[in-house]
Amino acid sequence: MVPIELDIEKINQISKRKEKENLRFRAFLKGQDDEKVDRVVHRLNNEIESQIDCTDCGNCCKNMRPCVTNKEIDTLAVIDKVSLENFIENFTEQDDLENIKYLKDTPCKYLLGKKCSIYDVRPKDCITYPNIHKRSFNSRSLSMIDNYGICPIVFNVLERLKMEFRFR
Ligand code: SF4
Ligand code: SF4
Repeated sequence: MVPIELDIEKINQISKRKEKENLRFRAFLKGQDDEKVDRVVHRLNNEIESQIDCTDCGNCCKNMRPCVTNKEIDTLAVIDKVSLENFIENFTEQDDLENIKYLKDTPCKYLLGKKCSIYDVRPKDCITYPNIHKRSFNSRSLSMIDNYGICPIVFNVLERLKMEFRFR
């Protein structure tokens, strides 16, 4: 089994150093068969995800803002014991262009240490992050590169992907 990198500081530094390399790799992947890319990405994701304990990381919750549906906002307002209006006003931000609301604080207000304090009712966007299991990796590769320096799963999948495709 190839060792994986879990040190967030190191991952962050490498991501700055490899910014250009990752953009080149993205362009390289676009020239590959999309279905083959998905097959390899999903296999690597399964291998790597199973070796990483998200409850001992929480780095996405420190850096990302999950989008929230109206139903999820209802739930969170009840948990926080505030009115819906109060919650929307103080804890969300609206993206008018895409008509999406986000939780606005980073780190997320529900992060306690490295763990989510509302784990069982966390928003769907948190559950699916980093979304590597989805199809059409090539169409989402820019966002994957953005997440390379944040999420050890993305970092390790992309590094292994470079090896599998013999990218130089
Ligand atoms: S709701 Fe929980 S899982 Fe989602 S960003 Fe906040 S702390 Fe992380
Ligand atoms: S999804 Fe990635 S960044 Fe978030 S807790 Fe898991 S390993 Fe860490």
